[in-house]
This record gives sequence, C-alpha cells and structure tokens, in this order.
Amino acid sequence: MAADDPSDEEVRAVIGAHLTRFGRRRHPAPALEDLLLTRSHLLEGTITRRTEDRTEQTRHRPGTIDLSDRPTYDVLGDYKLGPGESPLDRPLDLVRRGTVHLRSCDCGNGRRQCADCRGMTYRPCEPAQVCAACQGVTMCTQYLKHGGLPSTPPRPRKPGRADRPEERVTCEGCHTPDSACPGCRGWGKVRCPQCEATGRIPCASCSRTGTVKCTTCEGHGNLTSWTAGRIKWTRHPETITPPVPRPRRIGSELNAGGWQEDRLDTGDPLPGDLSLDQRTALEPHLRHRKDERQRQVVLRRLTVVTARLPGSPHREFYVFRGADGRLRAVGRLSQEGRWKASVIAGAVVALAILVLVLIR
Ligand SMILES: [Zn+2]
Ligand SMILES: [Zn+2]
Ligand SMILES: [Zn+2]
Ligand SMILES: [Zn+2]
Ligand SMILES: [Zn+2]
Repeated sequence: MAADDPSDEEVRAVIGAHLTRFGRRRHPAPALEDLLLTRSHLLEGTITRRTEDRTEQTRHRPGTIDLSDRPTYDVLGDYKLGPGESPLDRPLDLVRRGTVHLRSCDCGNGRRQCADCRGMTYRPCEPAQVCAACQGVTMCTQYLKHGGLPSTPPRPRKPGRADRPEERVTCEGCHTPDSACPGCRGWGKVRCPQCEATGRIPCASCSRTGTVKCTTCEGHGNLTSWTAGRIKWTRHPETITPPVPRPRRIGSELNAGGWQEDRLDTGDPLPGDLSLDQRTALEPHLRHRKDERQRQVVLRRLTVVTARLPGSPHREFYVFRGADGRLRAVGRLSQEGRWKASVIAGAVVALAILVLVLIR
C-alpha cells in the first residue's frame, strides 16, 4: 500500500468540505459517516528498453580513408562498450583489426573512357543536310542535266536566302540560269549548321578529352576497403497496461493528480510498497527481451477513493491527491443518476411545450 494513501477520516473530511462549498443548495447534505468508501490503487507507467544490434560488412570507399579514430575489434560480439560509447542516437562504427587495405581501382588512373563518344572526343555528324526550301526534291528544274554530275560540292554551301523559293537562281550543278532553288542553288543539300560541315561535333560530356572521372573511385584511382562493424541501440517505449482502469468519470481530472512517481534504471528492484496484485500485473511487461541492454521503467501510482451514499446511489464522490499533495474531492452523478436527471430534464421540456401549446 502506498505511503500517501489517505485515511477514511481524511476522505470524509474532504468530502464534507466539498459539500459545504458546492453541495448544500441542491442536495440534502449526506451524513459523512454513512459514506461507503472504495479504494482504487491506480498504477500506470512506461517501460523503455534499449536493444542492441551488431552487424558486420565489407565496405569500400574512394581514395585513402583515415580510419584511425575508429575503435577496433577482433570479434565484434566480444567488443565491450566503454562508458563514453553510447550508440543510441548515433551508431558506433568500428573497424576489424587488420582488414584495412588500399587497392587500386580497375580504372587504373581515376578516369574511364567517355561512354558518349567512346573515347573519340567527338560525335560523328552528317556534313550536309537536306535543303529546307526544296526538301531536296525540286532543287533544279533542269535536274535531268545533272546526270553524271556530283550531287554536292566538295564542301556543302551555307543555306542561301529562300524567302521566295519560287524565284529561281542559276544552278551551280548544271549552270542553267533561273533553274535552281535559291536555298541550295541546285545541290538539294546545304551545310549542316551543327558541325559546320566538319562531320564531327565536339563531345561535351568529356569536354573533348575522351575520358570522364571514374565513379567507382571518384577519380582517386584507388579504394580503401575494410571490414566495418556497427553497434546500434534502439529505443522501444512501451506503455504498461494499467491493472486497474481510471474511474471513467474523472479520467481527465486525474491527469492533474499528485501521482507518486518511481523511476527505475536497469537492475533496480521494484518499489517495496507495491502490492502483490500490482507486481503480478507488471510481471509480463518487465520480462527481459532478446538483445535488451538497458531499460528505464517509470511507475506512477495514485489512490482514488470512490464514496457512495447508500440512500442516494446516484451521487458519487472521488477523492485523490492533487499535484500539491493535498486531497481534493470531485462530485459526480452516477450512470443511473445521469439517466434519472435526463428523464427529469426531458419531462420538464415536455411540460413546458405542453404549457406553451395550451396557453396559445
Ligand atoms: Zn541544275
Ligand atoms: Zn534547295
Ligand atoms: Zn553535321
Ligand atoms: Zn566524350
Ligand atoms: Zn576508378
């Protein structure tokens, strides 16, 4: 039984004071000694476990990595955490002794052939394009005279002005006046604007070097590899199922109650004044879980005394300690009392409506 359990006399006195302040006008004052008192020993709380996870994997990082500040181990499972090593908010990264190696990347020097140009430094392009003015179809009205002649000049011409393609110019292929498309002057093709007839476009991906930085080693040409161990703790908060529920009618008022709080760390025994029932209720929550390393248990206890009068079963009083340590009383109508009150209220409303109807 908790040390701050109020005595029957204290409970009756607090209810008496409560009635003096609030009760007398509406209800006849009950005889305090007739009050039937029932005690509820509320127990609530949380248990927060910290479980541990140890993992090991081979890691590779570009370049030379300085791992000298990381703790080392031979067998990860045997590593003992130091007092300053708390892998709770951040995992603890370790290095297995003798596993750090610097090896060269298969790229050799930190660069790989550019995939866009395959190391050519440029992309091939057509030197000439089909003339936009004649589509390469109606480039010359005397096209038959082009038999045996080359279809493009050694270096394709720049496209000519072709605002009015129906105007014809002297053909450069067959030299016939007023026969050729002004866009291509009879050739049907014009110089490619992308490569300016050079037949190659410089590769932008590699800036015309033919190679790009190796993504595996990030240009370092080598990689550090090691066996990395990691120790990580995870919090698992759990609410303890209250063995005795809060009285429903004052559930929220109890938030401001003067709960007796006990904080237990790993290995601490339960408070000596817990009842056997409470210990039994806590037992399933307190079982040791797999990989559990630490725990914090917070227990909160509060005694609520329910007071009823044999003569007026619809009224209830609840007495419990407030945050200031002093007892306080709360009056409530019971379920039955509420039902009666609502019936009475309904009857009053019905009567009022009847009166209104009759006097019209
Ligand atoms: Zn022609
Ligand atoms: Zn043309
Ligand atoms: Zn081109
Ligand atoms: Zn390239
Ligand atoms: Zn590389």
